[in-house]
Amino acid sequence: MLCAKRKLTGETVTAYFASKAHGPFVCSDCGDEVILKTGRRMVNHFAHVNPLACRYVENESDGHRRCKMEIFLALQKELNVRNVVLERPLGTNRADVSAEINGVPVAIEVQISSLSPETIAYRTMEYARKGIFVLWLLQWTPKLDAKRYTPRLWEKWVHAAYFGRVYYWTEGLSVVSYHFDPHLKSVPQKTWYSRDGKKMTGGGFTRRSKLHRTAIRGRTFNLATDFGPRNRDWWEGKDITIPAAKLYVDRQRNSVPAEFYEA
Ligand SMILES: [Zn+2]
Repeated sequence: MLCAKRKLTGETVTAYFASKAHGPFVCSDCGDEVILKTGRRMVNHFAHVNPLACRYVENESDGHRRCKMEIFLALQKELNVRNVVLERPLGTNRADVSAEINGVPVAIEVQISSLSPETIAYRTMEYARKGIFVLWLLQWTPKLDAKRYTPRLWEKWVHAAYFGRVYYWTEGLSVVSYHFDPHLKSVPQKTWYSRDGKKMTGGGFTRRSKLHRTAIRGRTFNLATDFGPRNRDWWEGKDITIPAAKLYVDRQRNSVPAEFYEA
């Protein structure tokens, strides 16, 4: 986690700006002692002394922390953005970064470890109940630009929820949108002879891969200027259920035809 409280004053501090002299620190959620971890090769953060007791102990990677921190710092510089908060508790959720962007309450969730689609759906529902528009982001990986890409189930969930798009964070406020197209596998044509000497042929067609998709790179968007709020109706597909949701979606989304909505 990137925030904690000073034990003496109860004041919330961000690891990025804190120094060990401000300690001792406690977890904002469970109140247990946490230690400030700093180093040149990592993003400053807090870690529980006894990690077993707290529900917020996740195996957060350094990449995840860097992404949260960069978005947090970059949003603070924008004139149309207010109340930028890191790790804000909202019911059972704790938004990685929350803010009011052009007056719209927004929660930005950086999804790097794998959550189940049920958990994402539940958290999305919770945000909607609180009137908050949510944007699930993923960290960009070069794998996306390979010939074929293997999205995880929750990535497919995000794709279906956001009208056929997944947003991948690259740096600062920049996110790249991707659309998943079916990946076609070609089955080569083959000729062989059966036992009774009959000439047989097969193959020579393409079929959709169940596992792979072709990830098509779309536009790069700015989190502070290119997104807007959108209400989404409940939707159920083959393996995916999207609850009625409040989503933060790029403003170009209307150009996506309806048949692309499905994962
Ligand atoms: Zn804790």
